[in-house]
Amino acid sequence: MNKTLTIRVTKASQSRLESTNFDALAFGQIISDHMFVAEYEDGAWQNLRVEPYGPMQINPANATLHYGQSVFEGLKAYRNEAGELLVFRGDANQRRLNESAARMCIPEVPEEVFMEGMRKLLEVDREWVPRQPGCSLYIRPFIFAADDYLGIRPSRKYTFMILTSPVGKYYAKPVAVKVETQYARAIEGGTGSAKAAGNYAGSLFPALKAQKEGYDQLLWTDGKTHQYIEESGTMNVMFVINGTLITAPTTTGTILKGITRDSVLILAREMGFPVEERFLPVRELEESLLSGTLEEAFGTGTAATVAFIHLINIHGKDYLLPEKSTNAFSDRILKTLDDIKYGKVADERGWIMKF
Ligand SMILES: *Cc1c(COP(=O)(O)O)cnc(C)c1O
Repeated sequence: MNKTLTIRVTKASQSRLESTNFDALAFGQIISDHMFVAEYEDGAWQNLRVEPYGPMQINPANATLHYGQSVFEGLKAYRNEAGELLVFRGDANQRRLNESAARMCIPEVPEEVFMEGMRKLLEVDREWVPRQPGCSLYIRPFIFAADDYLGIRPSRKYTFMILTSPVGKYYAKPVAVKVETQYARAIEGGTGSAKAAGNYAGSLFPALKAQKEGYDQLLWTDGKTHQYIEESGTMNVMFVINGTLITAPTTTGTILKGITRDSVLILAREMGFPVEERFLPVRELEESLLSGTLEEAFGTGTAATVAFIHLINIHGKDYLLPEKSTNAFSDRILKTLDDIKYGKVADERGWIMKF
């Protein structure tokens, strides 16, 4: 590295730390004092800076507002016993951000801009990483088109930002999910594998409909036949049937390549737990519920790590899952992942970046 990045720092005149209740943190409600900003113009990322979090000026003709040329990431920093900050698999998030960006004609953010931006922001807002057990600092990098232009074409200017938000212990309550067979989140050739803003806007309507019917989340099926389980709205989804872990493959471009998903699969294989990456037919899921061979179902994602599913609605029928065994795979995997993330066990896989 022959060129070091210059990141200008402007500190907030007053911190909001004192007025923040770290014992009652809801997801995404509180943003830390500062944010990282970089601007893409004339083919280069420039004007790198950390500045106070606050409103920004945006022209009503901004292309993102109209056409949604925008991608995002989500990762977390954890505080270990020694007070060091541990970021879980941040390199994987950096690569995925650029994969999403490529699909949306957004220029790549170089690794050092991402990493040094995040490092500087965490340095300035270090005190925002909660000390309470089970809590963490959610990190939200995102890129959006910055041209003021109403024509449809890739923007020439972009803004890359990183926000952080202290978050509490996630929703430990098991969730009820509904298998969605009318609406689609993604189709082959579409944008499902990108963390692209519009994917989430399109999911709101069917998800809200399910919530009104009493379900927490959807289990999306393939957009063409609606016969195979794909994933949930912001989580990949896994099933333990007859002692085998089953989850959809990420080869069709319709499923987000979750980093938690990947970590769970790696750990399961290390544990010698049988794994099948294949599309689970809705019919097979229903039969396994009827015959009692479905042992566990759970979502995986950065926000919850593991979200247990206790009820699945299929074609209008509610199925309750059996009680988890005392040695349930999902409990073991959650504990293993938490131990790695909070630095309670050695980082044997190079998953932890220390700050
Ligand atoms: C972010 C996301 C996931 C989970 O990815 P992680 O890297 O594990 O946080 C799964 N599905 C969708 C649709 C997502 O947006």
